[in-house]
Amino acid sequence: MREADRATLWHPYASATDAPEVFPVVGARGVRLTLADGCELIDGMASWWCAIHGYNHPVMNRALSEQLERMSHVMFGGLTHPPAVKLASILTDLTPASLNRVFFSDSGSVAVEVALKMALQYWYSVGQPAKQKLVALRNGYHGDTFGAMSVCDPVTGMHHLFGDVLPRHFFAPAPDCPVDGSCSDTDIKPMADLLAEHHHEIAAVIVEPVVQGAGGMRFYSPDYLVKLRALCDAFDVLLIFDEIATGFGRTGKLFALEHAGIDPDILCLGKSLTGGYMTLAATLCNSRISRGISEGEAGAFMHGPTFMGNPLACTAAIASTELLLSQPWQRSVQRINRALDSGLAPARELPGVADVRTLGAIGVIELERPVDMKTVQPMFVERGVWVRPFGRLVYVMPPFIMNDEDLATLTGAMVDVVSQLG
Ligand SMILES: *Cc1c(COP(=O)(O)O)cnc(C)c1O
Repeated sequence: MREADRATLWHPYASATDAPEVFPVVGARGVRLTLADGCELIDGMASWWCAIHGYNHPVMNRALSEQLERMSHVMFGGLTHPPAVKLASILTDLTPASLNRVFFSDSGSVAVEVALKMALQYWYSVGQPAKQKLVALRNGYHGDTFGAMSVCDPVTGMHHLFGDVLPRHFFAPAPDCPVDGSCSDTDIKPMADLLAEHHHEIAAVIVEPVVQGAGGMRFYSPDYLVKLRALCDAFDVLLIFDEIATGFGRTGKLFALEHAGIDPDILCLGKSLTGGYMTLAATLCNSRISRGISEGEAGAFMHGPTFMGNPLACTAAIASTELLLSQPWQRSVQRINRALDSGLAPARELPGVADVRTLGAIGVIELERPVDMKTVQPMFVERGVWVRPFGRLVYVMPPFIMNDEDLATLTGAMVDVVSQLG
């Protein structure tokens, strides 16, 4: 299998000609992945934040088989169906009341594209076509398609490779105020200055609230978001929250925006929306945006993916969200946080470690130098865990069902591997 893979496949962010080793998985149950050689790995990644209930969950499986018998897919133009209607009502109930309109798409990047298009089309529709620029944060990550990429960190996103095709937007420094502290006027000043100078051409500010994920696993003060909301209001700029990574409990709140208690104008959801079963994303907006666009020149929002509102994916999202809310998930996330805190603490003393931090069900060891994936990846597999570092970051975001024993094995392996690197 490895040879056939190497001959024809291209893996994410990987070379095709000098392909790194990949590990064949043949099954997954609970928090464990089963490799082709029978070896089992405790999954610390939840398949890139998604599999919050672990794998092969009986409740999820049943909901999906039942929907499969009814209808796996139908187009969304001119038709609707119970899973889409029910999911939209769940999402509008769980998020701030002002967000009352839901647009489904098939991946996080597309949900971000949709959010950016909503912002631009809104301003065009209300007679302010000059507002076409976006403001994003350095160290941000919003996806890999062109629009989403244009608001990712320009350095780690390697914007220079894509020349003039990639639109140029404004970037403010990543917030430097600690997650458990407040945010001073100095912390927000670069953002305030940017908005003061360029608001006439700015459509929206897009940020990942509280946790910057794939752009650096950085946590920052919710107070920054409170100040940002006030600035956006003052300068008549829309605010977009990308909660694709933080949504559905990961940070200890159902949505990270709850740490700040403010409403964005547009909200992107994805990743754990379906508990990692299917690909689905959603962009929610308030009635200012939906009305502005609908009453504008086009009379319609100019987007509509083929697989929009896929019934199987919507069913997975309903089942996953109901499953999450039916249990004391806050307690699970707090328990995981304590286990990550104590399990990763010994890494603080190790040479080559710059920082150790946790928030909710996220645990991060930041190193001084980037890891060499070719040597590090097999070291984790040998220790029976699945951890996939990037750059200088060795981090985990386990499924919420992981027990303390597995968490101890997982964090023990992280500390051990990091100690071997030093
Ligand atoms: C993963 C991610 C995306 C992109 O989602 P895809 O499903 O990979 O397209 C966008 N924003 C954030 C914050 C993410 O973590």
